[in-house]
Amino acid sequence: MSQQTTELRGLELTGTPHERGITHGETFADEIETNLEIYLSVFKHKGTDEDTVYEQAEKFVPLIEEENEEYAAEMKGIAEGSGLSIEDVTVLNARYEVMYSAFKKAADEAGGSADACTAFAIQPEITADEHTYLGQNWDWMPGLETFVMEIRRDDKPDMAAMTEAGIVGGKIGVNEHGIGMTLNGLVTAKDGENPFRKPYHVRFREILDAERMDDAIAPLITKDRACSGNVIVAHAEGEMLNLELAPETVNYLHPEDHLLVHANHVEDRSSMNSEFEKLIPDTLCRAPRMKRLLSKHRGEIGIDVLTDALRDHFGHPNSICRHPNETDPELDRLRTNGSYVMDLTERRLMGTNGPPCEREYQTFEVT
Ligand SMILES: [Zn+2]
Repeated sequence: MSQQTTELRGLELTGTPHERGITHGETFADEIETNLEIYLSVFKHKGTDEDTVYEQAEKFVPLIEEENEEYAAEMKGIAEGSGLSIEDVTVLNARYEVMYSAFKKAADEAGGSADACTAFAIQPEITADEHTYLGQNWDWMPGLETFVMEIRRDDKPDMAAMTEAGIVGGKIGVNEHGIGMTLNGLVTAKDGENPFRKPYHVRFREILDAERMDDAIAPLITKDRACSGNVIVAHAEGEMLNLELAPETVNYLHPEDHLLVHANHVEDRSSMNSEFEKLIPDTLCRAPRMKRLLSKHRGEIGIDVLTDALRDHFGHPNSICRHPNETDPELDRLRTNGSYVMDLTERRLMGTNGPPCEREYQTFEVT
């Protein structure tokens, strides 16, 4: 495994989807291999051998091509550029779904295998500069290699989004129309029952391909999902929606007092159960904690208030700024791998590589 840099790297991607993929693959060939090794060892740790993982990945290759041709072309470019196979790249791009498809038992024990995070979105009514902000800490296994894709293109919106090396979709990002998204892991009862469905990462790219809010929401809800997740979609004008997504049901949560917060448990139990808090009970503390930290600065919220909240250590090490819990098995040691704040009004993403209490935020402009 390569030694991780403390810098959050950016990479400009231009040209056709295939050309963007080649640049991505050539630039981060070692990092993509590192990420693949980490996920294969996690799958193994959860009881799924490599042959099974690749059998499932093979089925996702045509599925992704049918769902989104451009996405498939960008994946092919990554494979060519990095010298890995298309199946290797598919394991990463469908990592949520491969996990569930490979072995249902693994999904049942997937505690350490859903990204644990604390997210927020804030309407301009309570910010100091009347801008709309969106952000989160991304808590996951140490060692994963990430970077910020700075995509410049003529046929679709320019965008800046954090991604794991090898993954086309991106996870936390903003586009030139002021549309942004965040992501939290959720675990609900029906995860993995129908694994061969459109992968989440394909949907994430489609959110940031959108020019309007409704087109950004559509990719999440028009087709059923293999597993669960929580996504906030927000617009620079201050419109925002939190979607709690289970395989076949969705809850829509709206801002309260101009604020949305979400962690890793389902807030609206009317249509789905919630499992993740049994494995990480701290999720029940992180969301209300974030709400309090932000609410007390109502009307004065700006970048300093937001980054202070993301550096909060209440309940350390299982805090908003999360640190590895030495008592957990090594592969289940979640930590804040990166911290992100997006100023949707300015089309700007600020982020760290590693826990924000140890790093300064770096800035990426969409245009
Ligand atoms: Zn910290």
